[in-house]
Amino acid sequence: SAKKLIAGNWKMNGSLAANQTLVQALLAGIGQPTCDVALCAPFVYLPQLQALLADTSTVELGAQDLSQHDSGAYTGDVSGAMLRDFGVRYAIVGHSERRQYQGETDVQVAIKAKRALAAGLTPIVCVGETLREREEGMTEFIVKRQLSAVIHLNGHCISEIVVAYEPVWAIGTGKTATPDEAQAVHAVLRAQLKAATEHADRVRILYGGSMNAANAAELLAQPDIDGGLIGGASLKAPDFLKIIAAAR
Ligand code: 13P
Repeated sequence: SAKKLIAGNWKMNGSLAANQTLVQALLAGIGQPTCDVALCAPFVYLPQLQALLADTSTVELGAQDLSQHDSGAYTGDVSGAMLRDFGVRYAIVGHSERRQYQGETDVQVAIKAKRALAAGLTPIVCVGETLREREEGMTEFIVKRQLSAVIHLNGHCISEIVVAYEPVWAIGTGKTATPDEAQAVHAVLRAQLKAATEHADRVRILYGGSMNAANAAELLAQPDIDGGLIGGASLKAPDFLKIIAAAR
């Protein structure tokens, strides 16, 4: 399968000073990683990170969202082409925090994935069930519904996306899905991708949700877990570096 991807999602954290310290510590410790590495930062810090990462190809740049529109009268939105202007390679779409707090729907998420691909960005499409949905036995139904909207709108380009399975109950809670629980959902997503493209094996399916230096290796050893989307632990250089080292 493909090279693993470890992506940090900084969420709404950071400052010019803190980012510089963090990125310098990462670059000092990263060496030659065997996986791909990305940092998904708030929009305003992308030029700063572009400059800090100018001399390296080991860490790539990501955004946490993009507009579902191309350009025009959409106050506050940032387009895929604007992100490309700053050397951005990845864009997270449909993170559960945006689905929950900004009311993003499956269809909007699918449109954003399409916009990202059209702009030359790799969308990291997030799917995942809430605790209640899991307790009701709906996990498979929910993640399949979320991914199917993206498959439907993106056709054969679907092999170009990254998927992130992030159970909502595991995000920022310290409650990680067990490797078996995560693998079971990843296998469902892989099968769904296989039905849509002959290149499903090269689609990276990341796990996200309280992944940390202690549990990363076991999660990343699962056959269908191709990397991680890391929140809290990506803000501490030693922890993030340990996760990168665990991804072989
Ligand atoms: P935590 O790693 O802080 O649980 O966040 C996961 C996440 O939402 C990454 O997108």
